[in-house]
Amino acid sequence: MSFRFDYRRYRLPFRTPMRAANRNWLEREGWIVRLEAEGAGIGWGEVAPIPEFGTEELEEDAEAVRVFGKSVTQAEIASIPGKLTCLRAGLQAAVSDASAGQTGDDARRVPEFLPVAALLPSGRRVLAAAAPLVESGFRVFKWKVGVADLGDELGLLDDLLAAMPAGSKLRLDANGAWDRRQAERWLERCADRPIEFVEQPVAAGAPGSEDLLLGLAGDYPTPLALDESLVRAGDVDRWLGAGWPGIFVVKPSLFGGADGALGQLAAVKARVVFSSALETAVGARSALRTAFAWPGPQLALGFGVWPLFADPRFDGPAAAPFVRRTDVEQIDPEVVWNALG
Ligand code: MG
Repeated sequence: MSFRFDYRRYRLPFRTPMRAANRNWLEREGWIVRLEAEGAGIGWGEVAPIPEFGTEELEEDAEAVRVFGKSVTQAEIASIPGKLTCLRAGLQAAVSDASAGQTGDDARRVPEFLPVAALLPSGRRVLAAAAPLVESGFRVFKWKVGVADLGDELGLLDDLLAAMPAGSKLRLDANGAWDRRQAERWLERCADRPIEFVEQPVAAGAPGSEDLLLGLAGDYPTPLALDESLVRAGDVDRWLGAGWPGIFVVKPSLFGGADGALGQLAAVKARVVFSSALETAVGARSALRTAFAWPGPQLALGFGVWPLFADPRFDGPAAAPFVRRTDVEQIDPEVVWNALG
């Protein structure tokens, strides 16, 4: 099948800077992709690499699509090199969007809604931020740690847990900021506390980091989750092969195009968290559709990010304790496209 291919580039300031382990992130860059096929619908996708995360650069994607010109075939999309992980994910999402409703997929039983984790700010601000989120009904929370002084953060942990209603779940995300000793201190502290999981305690990619993650996962009772460790085609395969006992954070906008990765996770009934890559409503629509189509149980979505952009036309559905499938289907990619016209 051949598609008319078009894309628009965006550079969007965040409403408030996103602070994580070792960066202060001010804006998001990417493309909105539009595919149109004769006899099929229009398909929308988003290409939103995060090079600091280990993805390709947007310039590499621009180089790769130059050969497409005004049209692209499904075979050309399938032959995009695996290292252009976000380009593959965005274009494949657009292809399946273009054929949505024609494959009979919609008849499958999918949930009407999925729970969402609220995103808490790093550092001391966490306490003031938690109260209104508790009030609005959230019961799963994610706190970015590894940003402030370790002792201060450990002290805040108990204050934060005390502020959460009984039965709440708290997940921590270190974004790879800790070394072994720091990770051990945290995991000792978490051991007898209701921590749902600790995400990426140590950095991905450093020599020995895979053994360190596997060792920590075996030594402490709190489950660990891989996030930055899962970027490229082959990462899921490798971690499954290594017997990773913890959770897999799936960012469909990053490795959703990796052949078979989601199928592999589903086949072994892996514990997964579908998560935002801080994309616009267009990428979020594809990513959330992927989450709704997941065949088994899943942990609360990591999509409590909106409002995210200074210009609200680019936002997905406002963060709430649950996202409904109808909220996702009501996202209109054309609004985002036109806003970039
Ligand atoms: Mg993370």
